[in-house]
Parts: sequence; structure tokens; C-alpha cells
Amino acid sequence: MISVAIDGPAGAGKSTLSRKLAASLDYIYVDTGALYRAVGLKFSKKGFDTELNGDIEEILKDTTVDIKFINKEQRVFLDGVDVSDEIRTPIASMMASAVSAKPVVRQFLLDMQRNLAKNNNVVMDGRDIGTVVLPNAQVKIFLTADVKVRAMRRYKELQEKGINDTFEAVLEDMEKRDYNDSHRATAPLKQADDAVLADTSDLNFEESLELLKKIVKDGVK
Ligand code: C5P
Repeated sequence: MISVAIDGPAGAGKSTLSRKLAASLDYIYVDTGALYRAVGLKFSKKGFDTELNGDIEEILKDTTVDIKFINKEQRVFLDGVDVSDEIRTPIASMMASAVSAKPVVRQFLLDMQRNLAKNNNVVMDGRDIGTVVLPNAQVKIFLTADVKVRAMRRYKELQEKGINDTFEAVLEDMEKRDYNDSHRATAPLKQADDAVLADTSDLNFEESLELLKKIVKDGVK
């Protein structure tokens, strides 16, 4: 099985690009952020805030997260309920970032991610795919862009969905998440030694996709 690992900060275009890349290769696309978002949502439903004060393991014991592919599209189920849309709100983003710093949560989701790559050709995106989840992936890409460019892309995306946060709020959230994700002790966001850096600050979507396709072509021999 072939694995393409794509890591990078929030808003770098990972999910949209990875989805297209996977379709062009006829691989499945696994969005691992959705798993952390589902866990974040569970804690939010249980009344936790980002401080996560309480018994995390106890909640996890009573939590199931599943991925199903419906028409090749990933859907995420929390305790049997499809939460694929509900996990996209700004609060779910912040809760995902908070829960993802907890080693028990990362462990809770690790086997599921590895099994998907064992049984399928995958394009898998996240923060630690090339460094921790799939250290032997044939292709590793670190996808990034300037934080202001990323915040502007996310701001426009939210507006299209009718979520009217200000640009400043989106930028602040993104900087906070970047900081959390790259400074946590367990599996911090960082470029794997053998990953190829793809900076899309000055590239449009098509150009970014072409760049990724070229990196995969060069990497899969
Ligand atoms: O990619 P996305 O923005 O949906 O991820 C939500 C959050 O989940 C990230 O901010 C990060 O904290 C966490 N995450 C992670 N490891 C992954 C994927 C996501 O820690 N592999």
C-alpha cells in the first residue's frame, strides 16, 4: 500500500488539496483533523472548555469515533452519529486543538489512522502523519503558507458558509492554534526530516495542486 503523508498548519489548504490529490491518484483521502474535531466536540458536549479540567480518560472510555467512506467521501461518526458538519465550527476547532495536546487522545486515535493506511492507498493529512503516524510513508509533504494568507483563506471559507467572524478573529484563532500545535509536548507540528516543503503563499489552488502532484510523482517510484 502507498501512503502520502501531508502535514502542515491550519488553513494551508491541506484538506482541499489532499482531497483533489487523492481523487487524481484514486487513493482514499483521510482527514485526521476530523477525528480530533470529533473528540473535541464530545468534550464540548460534556461541558468541558479548552482548559479540559476533569477526567479525560473516563470520557474517552465512553466515546467511539468512526470513519466511513460514503461515495468515497469521508464521514465522521461520534458515538454513532454523523458529525461531519458539526465539527467545522470555530468552537470545534479550538476544542480539537485542546484535546489534541493530550497524549491519551492521540493514542486513542492512533491505531485507527494506521489501520486505514495498512488497508488502503491513502493521502492522509494532519499534523504528525509523517513524523508519528506513518513514519514510513513513501511520500511526505509539509504544506504551509504565510499565516495571514492562511487566515484570509479560512475567513473567506467561513463567510461562504454564512459564519460571520471578523478577519482579525480568524487570524488570532489561527495564530493561537499554530502556537498550540507546534509547542505541545506530544507529537508537535513539525516538518519531518524527509518531508518535502511546499509553500503555497504565492500559489493559487491549481498551481498548488500541480506542485503536490509533482512531489508525489517524484516520490513514488
Ligand atoms: O486539520 P484541522 O484543522 O481540521 O485539525 C483540527 C485540530 O486537530 C488541529 O488544530 C490540531 O490541533 C489537531 N490535529 C492534530 N493532529 C492531526 C490532525 C489534527 O493534532 N494529525
